[in-house]
Parts: sequence; structure tokens; C-alpha cells
Amino acid sequence: FIRKKQQIAVHLNEVQQQAVLHSEGPLLLLAAPGSGKTTTLLMRVGYLIEEKGVQPSRIKAITFSRASAGDMKERYKRFFPELPSVDFSTIHSLAFEIVREHFRAERILFQIIEGHGSGQDIEVGEAGDSAAPALHKKMILREIFRTVTGENITDDQLEELTTYISYIKNKMIPVSKWGDVSCGVRHAEQILSEYERFKRKHPSGLLIDFDDMLTLANDILSKDARLLRKYQRRYDYMLTDESQDTSLVQHAIVEKLVMEHRNLCVVADDDQSIYSWRGAEPSYLLEFRQVYPEARVLYMEQNYRSSKNIVETANQFIQRNKNRYNKNMFTHNVEGQPISIKALPDYKQQTKYLVEEIRKLSHLGEVAVLYRNNSSSIDLMNQFDRAGIPFYIRDADNRFFSHWVVQDILNFMRMSYTDRRPDILEAIHTKFNGYITKQQMAALKEIHNHESVFDNLLNYVPLQDYQLKQLPQCKWIFEQMKGMPPLEAIDVIRTKLGYDKAIDKMCERLGFQKEYLLGILNSLEEIAESLSTMEEFAQRLKHLEALLKSSKSRKGQHAVTFSTFHSAKGLEFKHVYMIDLINGILPSKEDLKHRAGDRNSELMEEAARLFYVGMTRAKTQLELLTYQQREGEKTTESVFLAEVRSILNPPQFKVSLDSGRQIGRSTNRGASFGGGGGAAAFPASYAVPAAARSFNANTIRLLTDLAQDMQVIHRAFGLGRVTMFSGPTDL
Ligand code: ATP
Ligand code: MG
Repeated sequence: FIRKKQQIAVHLNEVQQQAVLHSEGPLLLLAAPGSGKTTTLLMRVGYLIEEKGVQPSRIKAITFSRASAGDMKERYKRFFPELPSVDFSTIHSLAFEIVREHFRAERILFQIIEGHGSGQDIEVGEAGDSAAPALHKKMILREIFRTVTGENITDDQLEELTTYISYIKNKMIPVSKWGDVSCGVRHAEQILSEYERFKRKHPSGLLIDFDDMLTLANDILSKDARLLRKYQRRYDYMLTDESQDTSLVQHAIVEKLVMEHRNLCVVADDDQSIYSWRGAEPSYLLEFRQVYPEARVLYMEQNYRSSKNIVETANQFIQRNKNRYNKNMFTHNVEGQPISIKALPDYKQQTKYLVEEIRKLSHLGEVAVLYRNNSSSIDLMNQFDRAGIPFYIRDADNRFFSHWVVQDILNFMRMSYTDRRPDILEAIHTKFNGYITKQQMAALKEIHNHESVFDNLLNYVPLQDYQLKQLPQCKWIFEQMKGMPPLEAIDVIRTKLGYDKAIDKMCERLGFQKEYLLGILNSLEEIAESLSTMEEFAQRLKHLEALLKSSKSRKGQHAVTFSTFHSAKGLEFKHVYMIDLINGILPSKEDLKHRAGDRNSELMEEAARLFYVGMTRAKTQLELLTYQQREGEKTTESVFLAEVRSILNPPQFKVSLDSGRQIGRSTNRGASFGGGGGAAAFPASYAVPAAARSFNANTIRLLTDLAQDMQVIHRAFGLGRVTMFSGPTDL
């Protein structure tokens, strides 16, 4: 089998072969990015079917997202075009099946309350295909928050609250310990209790969100022996890819299903664990042998994907994380192009630069632009579409076009064409100078003469003094706006009509995230920039929205991939552009907050892993993009970028021993301690073993050690004590 595959696909290395051939019993494959984990997993599947005669339907391959399940299926088809497909899916879809089957048998009514529009890419069988559910998790949480606190929840708080809930569910934290989990939202524990009660007591049946699906499936498998047996017997082999992002409850489900045959193959890289905030449990891998004492554990460090420049830099970068299994990724691939860092003067130039660069490339299917925040995709879409460069968006963010800020701007524009429609006014009546109250709005709607809403307000509705002054002005401004190019119109809306002020107030009062809202306005301005009429602007928005929706169909074709770092996991591209590399995005403000940006805080380490996932997607060209300002505000380059710089251009320094002989120059690579008295591999023979490790990891710590009279052994000059060092001190 192995030989046959080597002819058509890849030449599996020793470890990969062992992993393929070790078909029975538990196996953990812990390996670096690009070392062939997914390849090996797929080869195992083929081996089981072709050589062991296993029925494809008896194999279950699990991965972390619906999109990556699709990718695995495609890769499998390329390896084994002649074989029937295997069940590649997410653990959520399996959990959903279990839950559904159990509830049907028990005649328990239930309803899924999470799905499209939730921003999560999870496959849930039929539920995932329908439109957003009528009762939505976030809606429910909003209500409960209001009841408990008497306030409106902000987007940030909602985000934090859902993360808190996911974390608790995925980590299987018992009710009694909920209070121990920290959450930035006050009363989080109480809100969660209310939420649980609400879901259980709902008249239309049990309400289930994605997290519940896992918890319930796990409970059902513990209690329903018939179903457990059924699912245990359904599959003879289970394989899980990207298992560093598997949570405790997910592990628990898998454990139950493989209990009888124990044919479980787990593939993982702890350095690519990027979901711990949502309860992923990479430390489970350490305990794998406790759960499966007979397990075979294999390691792979050779990267087949990327050129040497990329592999070495990425490897040094991740070594700076403390909390990891020590791995040393290497490659025999060619040196390749150096990693390039591009600092643009302004954020807008970043997209323009990308368009210019990517325009020159011929195989667009081999190009990816990666970012942390989904909102970055809107500007990219707009500019790439204008330039006629096709793209595919991996995790389409539909929320932009339906966001209330976008709708507000469109409604302001509509008002400039006709001010006779109270329904349009109603959408924005509190959002411009002359603030029209609810009661006034209600009174206005009673008037059906189809005259200007402003005239009607002034003539028939009791107004405040400020309104008497401002509303005629507003009427006039709206009239002036008609026929303006959209960019100018947006400016009028924001400044003359007072929309910016209204946004400020809303942020204050309702706690909206101002930066995010301004970001939306900026994107709208970008889109409006070269257009001459507001109709064109509205059409352009429609067009972009349609493009976004249809973008999935361009997957795998001649198209650039736009993706978040999270969703790019497991993928590879010849050319990779990592963008928006500024402090505040990667790492985020939140990441930096902890211990003042100390690289070794948990959040900073996770952000570094995210950066690492990005870097290790590139095969031959990796470009890192940053900028110095955004919307007139100064930005600072990502601290991670500075680290990459120092890896690429290691600072040099000189060391003297007490013999007085200068023995050479060193770089923080620890490889070129030569010069002075002749070339010698110096750092390899430091007498202080602890320092030898930190030598590679952190220059600054090393320098401190050197200044502190460190004892060293030089290969040529023998034992000595460091008396001084010289060279650049601005390290
Ligand atoms: P990631 O951690 O990013 O998911 P991975 O470990 O799953 O990476 P793969 O995607 O399986 O790695 O493989 C990376 C690349 O290396 C692929 O292009 C694959 O074809 C190639 N590859 C894997 N094994 C070998 C091999 N033995 N010889 C040559 N190329 C290989
Ligand atoms: Mg992989």
C-alpha cells in the first residue's frame, strides 16, 4: 500500500508510515505544522479501506469546522479518487445526530437556537441549512441581561458572555463552580442560570444552543445505553484532526464512542491551539496515555510545506512561548525568499498595495490574505472587486450589510430623496440633530397627508425650542444632500446632521463599541469613494453583499482566498499576506492588557500561536503587513512583528572573557559565534545549562545573564568568566 501511494502521491516518511500502518488501537500523532498530519490521517483512511477492507461507512473522521471538513473530503478525493467517500464532519454534527435521535425516541420537543447569522461555522445537519432560528440565543441573552441588570447589554458584553458560557460548557464545569470562572460581565453566573432555566422551561420545547448540543450528547451517551451501543457500533475507526482544539466535552464524547474498539487516531499540534478561550483542552494530549495506556505516541518535526526561511523564523518565533511541548520544527526544503515585512504609511494603502502585488501573481488559487478580524474583509472585497481580481471568502461575514449603521446611512440617503415618508424617518429619528422623541414620532405617524415630515412636525406636533430651531435646518440639509456624490453625503450625515454625535451618545448610553462603529463608517466611505451617485452607492452595497454570498462557490477556483487566521488552520498557500499587524489587532488590546503585554501571559501566548498559524500557512512567500496610521490616528506595529524582525536581523554583541581576549561576536541565533580569535561554535558549550536554553529563546535575558559574571566555556579558549560585553545595547 505504502509503495503504491508513493507513486501517486507523497513519499511517506518513516513516522508517517508507522502511523498509517498502526491501524488498531489508540494513536496520538503530535507534530509540527506542515509535517503531514492531515496527509497521514487521510492515508490511514485509505489504508483501512484498501488494505484492511474496512467499509468506508464504518470510519468517522472529525475536524473542527464545517469548512475544514469539506477540505478534508476534497483532499481525500484527490488521494483516492476511486474510493467511496468517508464521513468527514464536525463533532457538532455528530452530537446533533445523537441528540436528535434520543429526543425523537423520547418524544421530547426541542428547538435549535443558534445557527446562521451567529457567526459560527458549525455544521449541524438540517438545522444549519435553515435560516436563522426564530428564537435566537443572543436575543434570549439580551433579554435576560436586561431583566437581571436593568441595563442593555453591549456587543462586547454579549460576546464575553457567550464565550463564558461556551467555556463553562466545553470544560464541563459543574454549576457549583460557575462562580469561579471569571467573566467581565457582572452577574454572569446568574444570567447563565436564568438562561439555562429559560431554555428548559420554554413552551415550544427544549431550547438547545451549540454548546448544549455537546453537553447533551455526552449526557445522553452516559445514560442511554441503547444509543451508546448503537453509536459505538456504527464506527469501527475514529480519527480526529486538529485535536489541540478539541474541548473536554468533545473528548468525552469521543472517548465513549471508541470505548469498545479503541481504534482512535488523534492528530494534533499544541502550538496551533487557538481556541482555548472557548474551552479547548490541549493539555488533554498530555494525559492521552492516562486515558489510553496502550496508546502509541508519535512525533513529527519535519515540515514539508514551507521554505527554510519561513520554517526557521516561525520555529524561533514559537520557541518564545513557554507553555508548550518542546518541538523543533525543521525542513529540508530550499531556503526560498526571505520573509518580507512591509510597513505602509496608512491603513488604506495596505489594501491598495495588496491589489497591486496580487495582480502580478498568476495562480490566484495559491494566494491568501489573512487577518484577525472579519471586518477587514469588506475593504478587501471592495477593492479587489474593483480591480477585477476574483476572491473567495472563507468565513463570510454577512453581518456587515445588515448592520444598523449601514442601514442608517442608507435611510439618511433615502430621506434626501423624499422627506415625505415617516417610515424612513422612523428608522433614524433619534440619530440626528433635532432628536425626535418616540411620542413625537407616534404623533407624526397619525398624520396622513403625505407632506414633508419636517413640515408636519413643525405644523402639527408639539416641539421643544431646540427642535424648532434645528428641524428646519435639517430639512434644508436633507434637500441640499440630494444629488450629492455618496462620499460627500456621508460627510454631511456625519457632521452637519450630527450622526457622529448621535453615535457618541449611543456608545455612552448603550455601551456600543465605538471603534467598531467608526470602522463600519470608514468602510462605507471607502466603498463610496469613487462613486458619483447615491443610487450607485446603494447598488454597490447590494452587489458586494451578493458577491459575499456567492463567494463560497469560487472556492478552489482561480481566486484569492480571504480568511481569518482561525479559519485558515490546516490550509496552505504559495503566497501568504498577513495583514493588519498592529498592536490592538494582533495582539489585541485585551491580549496586551494582561501583564502589560508580557509575551508569557496566556492570552499573549495564544495570540502568538495565532500569528504562528498564519506564518506556517505559507509555502514560498510570506509577507507581513503593518501600517503607521488608521483614520488619522497613529498605530503601532505589532510586537510580534518586532520579534520577527529581531529573528530576521539578530542583534549582535561582543563578549570578553577575563583573560582579556575578545572571543567573538554573537547573534541571538546562537549559531555564528565567530570572529575575534577564529570561528567557534560557542553557545553550544555554555556551562550554565539553563542559560543555553534561554540563549535561543530570549536575547534580553541572555544579556542580563552575561552581565552577571556568567561562567562560560569556550571551545577553543576554555573556561572563563564574562567580564564585559559591548555592542548595541538597544536590544
Ligand atoms: P497543519 O498543521 O498546518 O494542519 P499538517 O501537519 O496537517 O499541517 P499537511 O497539510 O498534511 O500537514 O501537509 C503539508 C504539506 O506537506 C502538504 O502539501 C503535503 O502534501 C506535504 N507532505 C506531507 N507529507 C509529505 C511527505 N512525506 N513528503 C512530501 N511532502 C509531504
Ligand atoms: Mg493539517
